[in-house]
Amino acid sequence: MATCEVCGNDYWMAFEVRTVSGDVHTFDSFECAIHRMAPICEHCEVKIVGHGVEVNGRFFCCGHCARSVERTEGAEIRDAVGARPA
Ligand SMILES: [Zn+2]
Ligand SMILES: [Zn+2]
Repeated sequence: MATCEVCGNDYWMAFEVRTVSGDVHTFDSFECAIHRMAPICEHCEVKIVGHGVEVNGRFFCCGHCARSVERTEGAEIRDAVGARPA
């Protein structure tokens, strides 16, 4: 058994997440893992649950948010290019 570091639930299916720096966190659910660990978009402040985009070490949920804040390199970020399906 292991205890979730967010909600305190002692749950047999709790799991660990190891970060790039080697820290280990324990959660009982993805919801709690997202609450503690997901980066927050610097423009709109949503939790970045998918890939998101990174510009100069700053995290954004999408190209629009990256372009809105990082006006130099961020201007290169695109969510999509080319023709849309008909
Ligand atoms: Zn939890
Ligand atoms: Zn955003």
